[in-house]
Amino acid sequence: MVVLTALDQDAVMVNPFQTGGLILFEGEVLAGIARYRQQSATAPEQGGVLLGYRRDPHLHVVTATFPARGDRATRFFFKRDDPSHAATALRMWKRTKRMMDYLGEWHTHPESHPSPSSIDTRAWATIRAASLEVMLFMIAGTGEDCWMGCGNRKVLLPVRPYLAVVQ
Ligand SMILES: [Zn+2]
Repeated sequence: MVVLTALDQDAVMVNPFQTGGLILFEGEVLAGIARYRQQSATAPEQGGVLLGYRRDPHLHVVTATFPARGDRATRFFFKRDDPSHAATALRMWKRTKRMMDYLGEWHTHPESHPSPSSIDTRAWATIRAASLEVMLFMIAGTGEDCWMGCGNRKVLLPVRPYLAVVQ
């Protein structure tokens, strides 16, 4: 579990797949995701993709896509069906001369201490199997807690805050 006390400040986590590697989330991305938290009793799950740079051994999340009309969203379900997510990822990839990459996925849960559902882990396994790279997965809860994980083809590992390791 990663607790983001300031949802508009940069967050630094440890990359469990790369010695000395970090995962940096720009505060603007976290603030954008925080706006979609399920803080009312009827708010549906929401989600999008995480975009940024792979600078070995680090991952740098600099932007994300956000829910759109063609997505399917209920209180306990989100499916990223709107074509704008992939279109944005492709546009950013081209605009940055193929530097900005698809780094992973985010979505919300209607719980204060979120953790992946069996549907989540199955969907992420499909994404991991399709990629040669380490992928990031984030679930934003209703408050300041979020779950973050990182996976390659073989294994999915939870991600820890950097400060907790150096203390
Ligand atoms: Zn979920």
